[in-house]
Amino acid sequence: MIPEEFSSAASRLCMACGMCCDGTMFQIVRMQPGDVPAELGKLGLKIRCRDGEYYMEQPCSGLQEKRCTVYDRRPVRCRLFNCQQLGRLESGETTEAEAMAMIIETREQVEKVRGLIERCGLREDGQALVERFERLASTPVNEALEPDMVAVREELEATMRKLKLRLNREFRLPPNSH
Ligand code: SF4
Ligand code: SF4
Repeated sequence: MIPEEFSSAASRLCMACGMCCDGTMFQIVRMQPGDVPAELGKLGLKIRCRDGEYYMEQPCSGLQEKRCTVYDRRPVRCRLFNCQQLGRLESGETTEAEAMAMIIETREQVEKVRGLIERCGLREDGQALVERFERLASTPVNEALEPDMVAVREELEATMRKLKLRLNREFRLPPNSH
């Protein structure tokens, strides 16, 4: 794919996806050489520091309707990141239509997980998806008091497992490859 074609296809795909910014795929984005945490913080990004290491929390506050509102000033890590779908599109391994279908299916799975989390009693609170799931999973269901909840929890766990697998196989980059 020629670079101009790739960048317009990538932008259409990202506008339909947003999963690497909205807390679905990542909980944090680590600051890299070249990032100025104080400047990024002034843009409204959630910059935090732990043990002297700066990072940005997700869901990213710079994301509005799946669009990066700080695109020209986004952190280095965001500039360097191309998910597996974009990588495959660039190399010709997949087409835009196939990547779009993958994104739509995956987003449906994400919505299913969100819906199940809400049914389990945890309202949307602006935290990353995995964080919300783990918080819920760490509180066991009281089978005697909420017998119906057992099946909902099982469905949530199974759906989340499938989603994690798909995100690893189709979107995240293998460790140490970036
Ligand atoms: S996961 Fe890939 S397609 Fe989705 S927004 Fe991120 S880079 Fe774009
Ligand atoms: S700064 Fe932009 S590219 Fe980076 S996580 Fe936020 S919305 Fe996404």
